Amino acid sequence: MTTALYRRYRPDNFADLIGQTQVTDPLRAALKSDRVHHAYLFSGPRGCGKTTSARILARCLNCAEGPTDTPCGKCASCIELAKGGPGSLDVVEIDAASHNGVDDARDLRERAVFAPARDRYKIFILDEAHMVTTQGFNALLKIVEEPPAHVKFIFATTEPEKVIGTIRSRTHHYPFRLVPPAELLSYLDSVLKSEGYSADDGVLPMVVRASGGSVRDALSLLDQLIAGSDTKKIAYERSINLLGFTHDNLMADVIEAFAELDAAKAFTAVDKIIQSGQDARRFLEDLLERIRDLMLVHSLGQDAKAILRGIGPEQFEQLTIQAARFGLGSLTQTAEATAKALSDTSAASNPRLQLELLCARVLAPAAQAKVVMREVPAAEPAASGAKPVMEAKKTEAKPVAAEPVKKAAAGDVTISFFKANWQIILETLSKQSRSAWAVAFTSKVVDYNDEVLTLLFQSQKDVEAFRNAGGAAEVLRSVIRDMTGVSVKYRAKVADVPSKVASAPVIESNDDEFSEEEEHEELKTEPIETTDPRTGEFILREVLGAKPIKGQK
Ligand SMILES: [Zn+2]
Repeated sequence: MTTALYRRYRPDNFADLIGQTQVTDPLRAALKSDRVHHAYLFSGPRGCGKTTSARILARCLNCAEGPTDTPCGKCASCIELAKGGPGSLDVVEIDAASHNGVDDARDLRERAVFAPARDRYKIFILDEAHMVTTQGFNALLKIVEEPPAHVKFIFATTEPEKVIGTIRSRTHHYPFRLVPPAELLSYLDSVLKSEGYSADDGVLPMVVRASGGSVRDALSLLDQLIAGSDTKKIAYERSINLLGFTHDNLMADVIEAFAELDAAKAFTAVDKIIQSGQDARRFLEDLLERIRDLMLVHSLGQDAKAILRGIGPEQFEQLTIQAARFGLGSLTQTAEATAKALSDTSAASNPRLQLELLCARVLAPAAQAKVVMREVPAAEPAASGAKPVMEAKKTEAKPVAAEPVKKAAAGDVTISFFKANWQIILETLSKQSRSAWAVAFTSKVVDYNDEVLTLLFQSQKDVEAFRNAGGAAEVLRSVIRDMTGVSVKYRAKVADVPSKVASAPVIESNDDEFSEEEEHEELKTEPIETTDPRTGEFILREVLGAKPIKGQK
């Protein structure tokens, strides 16, 4: 019977604690300069080292050669407080979850009066401090406010806001955080090596993801994988089943179906996922993660390797192939649909339905656009007997991008053509010029009349960028010309908040065919998808990995 990994690898000093330098650096500085406060509040998500740090701090304070930021490890106190040690009489750990009342607080207060048995300080570590009742805290208040010189308090909690303000204001507050994936990954790698094991490509990143940044959870999962491994190498297949992630093959099916806009393939893949017993929510999380990976690969190419840590060359190759089949626009769209499905799934009782709705959402706009694109050539020669429009739907689904661009007859180029095909036009634009796309992708078609295309931009700045940057206006014009044969002129509208001053165009139009109109439109009447605050939040969360500060478990 072996001890759990997270116990064996529990650090005994600050130098070995990973991912919390924002806390350990100032603490060590305080210890070195002997400016230690009498009460500390350690807050942060579970399993990221609060209690461990409290113990290390106690060890630093009571070391015979201390207070020091590096305990000697040889004195009686250091040995007692090391991992696996019996604990010290002068360091009292209290689980506030079960000792949270007034009586417990009074008891603590009485014990604090007595001098330490042997060491420098009497140190009280209150774990789960948010569980202490208000009366309990009030009973503690006096002693936390003016403790005897030999007493130190360390409160550890996941919910600092539940610790009453009067106590909180008398402590030094150190916020712990979830360990960043890169740091956790290399730590797990080192633990695995020192245990004499190795793992298939992709296994450790899965553990990191499943742990959600908690070191304790990550080590527990690793422990489980080691225990369940027949050989000294942890296998991908077994890990993916155990951790409940979506198998790469299933994921590839879905991604392929979305890339090809192949409805049959998409619904078959959903069926497979459900039949394999995969949790729908987990699948959606995995899908979102995969789309994010594809976005990175699409945007950064080989450089994405630096961000997508821990994946093998084969997996990267696969991602590159998958990414090449999407436009950045359609990836964003798919990501948004997936994020929506994910938030709907928590409320829905039928996860299968949510997955199928997602497929429909991803496939539908493209299918609709295809109908319009196809009906245009059909209208050209009357020889085919002018087949009904609906027929187009039945044609076999193929990637839009692979279709040869067909010219539309001038009479068919209408406002509705532009509205229906705008995504496709932008996608084509992104293939020709990424910088042009970056400027134009926020624009929206407002009107088309007499070869003048009116576009709505979010701000005057966007309009200027559209005119200047890399000839975005020109590239877009040529894309539209290729599709329609019409060389459009532009008119720009700004959806900005109306400013009092600007009644005339801010920049003079020196380009004759580019007429600019400073018409401010209310955002309400012409909603722009990209001004949706959720989009920003979405990008923050999913692309940059931001997490809300509050509301963490
Ligand atoms: Zn010592």
